[in-house]
Amino acid sequence: MQIFREIAPLKAFLVEKRVQGHTIGFVPTMGALHEGHISLIQTALSENSIAVCSIFVNPAQFNSISDLDKYPRTIESDTEMLKRVGCQVLFCPDAQTIYTQQHVVKFDFGLLDKVMEGEFRPGHFSGVALVVSKLLHIVEPHIAYFGQKDWQQFAIIKKLVADLSFNLMIKSLPTMRERDGLAMSSRNMRLSEAQRQKALVLYNSLVLAKEELISGKSIESVKCLINNLYSSVTDVKLEYFEVVDSENLNLLQHVSQSQQPILCTAAYVGEVRLIDNMFL
Ligand code: AMP
Repeated sequence: MQIFREIAPLKAFLVEKRVQGHTIGFVPTMGALHEGHISLIQTALSENSIAVCSIFVNPAQFNSISDLDKYPRTIESDTEMLKRVGCQVLFCPDAQTIYTQQHVVKFDFGLLDKVMEGEFRPGHFSGVALVVSKLLHIVEPHIAYFGQKDWQQFAIIKKLVADLSFNLMIKSLPTMRERDGLAMSSRNMRLSEAQRQKALVLYNSLVLAKEELISGKSIESVKCLINNLYSSVTDVKLEYFEVVDSENLNLLQHVSQSQQPILCTAAYVGEVRLIDNMFL
């Protein structure tokens, strides 16, 4: 696997590969890799001749310095995992390489970045859009792969790519879960054994809400039920549980045939903030 920390050598390498007729699949990550990330790399490898993974913990998308500091960094085991799966290129720049100057650009995605994560993490998606734009300019992939786990992020990146005419295809792939249903996340490694059990409430809330909605219950009554479920678990604090239109992220009052609703939730388990979602 070729490892790049600087932009120019990576670009030169990829230009040559493109000229040779290779196609490039790109998976941007913040590292602390798990099977969810690896599933994206595997799809990138199966659909392209070269897979590029980036590992960059992006300061611009964190709301607090302590969350940024506590974000797990496991570059050695990440590198081993990527080599094992056959990823050909790793780009792991430091913050000065990506942010050579104080940036002033801000993104506004209308409703898409005001609800759910946007409400609780102001400025987060502007930071995401900035780094994704930079990475797409650097790597110039044919296809970029994202996880359904960050569905709101994917909806925003889809808009970013369309509005700024990036010349690539983007794909969202299914969420990889632990055997008991917990969505894989780099943040899970910060959970104690007891918190790890309590974190299951996110997945359980989605499964329960889906069942209740399918059986004809109203969104309002289901949200009430889910609030009670979260309240019954100590050390867990619900931030939001919403049913939204998966395309435009409009909050739904009623489930209808014409939309493809998605259930989204975020909660703190101790000090660790987790998110999850499920299509209805
Ligand atoms: P992150 O390193 O958390 O920024 O995630 C990098 C990419 O991996 C994003 O597109 C995520 O949506 C995706 N991802 C994170 N967790 C999972 C998972 N459990 N299953 C599939 N994809 C995931």
